[in-house]
Amino acid sequence: MSSSASPIIRIRQQIADAAGARRVQLLAVSKTRSADEIRALAAASGQVDFGENYVQEAVAKRAALRDLGLVWHLIGHLQSNKCREAAETFDWIASIDRSKLVAPLARHRPPDRDPLNLLIQVNIDDEQSKSGCSPDQIDALAEAIAAQPRLRLRGLMAIPAPGDSSSLGCAFAAMEQLFKTLAAQWPQVDTLSMGMSGDFLLAIAHGASQVRIGTALFGPRPAQPD
Ligand SMILES: *Cc1c(COP(=O)(O)O)cnc(C)c1O
Repeated sequence: MSSSASPIIRIRQQIADAAGARRVQLLAVSKTRSADEIRALAAASGQVDFGENYVQEAVAKRAALRDLGLVWHLIGHLQSNKCREAAETFDWIASIDRSKLVAPLARHRPPDRDPLNLLIQVNIDDEQSKSGCSPDQIDALAEAIAAQPRLRLRGLMAIPAPGDSSSLGCAFAAMEQLFKTLAAQWPQVDTLSMGMSGDFLLAIAHGASQVRIGTALFGPRPAQPD
């Protein structure tokens, strides 16, 4: 077994133990990691789903790794002027937080690709200057997405404010409630994306169906501008 595989094996086991009978997907967050590092992890572990924060960075990696058939998720903020490239590059976009993004993504989704899977990002702790819509905007966004045949509404994503396990637990519990309400309205909604390296077990305890993990898989990232 190659050395790129061991952290992911441990994390997969932790996820499986916490998930019990449920299925929880691991999204490997590969921002700042080279195409070679991604290739090594995919080869050593069979990992298919990768999360990127920047459209430009993902365009290059996807091109370099095209032979692997990976599934690419945008988890960073999406600027309106990047909708075309995002719709061409990603299989999932987890950061939909305003209705302005919906029509351009639908228009630019290439006709030969499956519909683009979307998650609505919720600013669950109502943080200033943080991406994500407020909970009362979810319904309108869901309606707008569901009206577009080239897009597929799949669920919700959140990045809670840093905090102790009790404040994080409150945020995750609030997301779980919002997710249940949304899933009751839309049968195609099956994904609740929350939990990162430091808190993914707590997120799974509150119903996360996808966890997004970078540092615990690849090691610490070099400092970068936001
Ligand atoms: C970077 C990032 C992650 C992964 O964070 P780690 O703490 O490295 O696991 C998850 N989600 C989003 C939105 C991120 O930007």
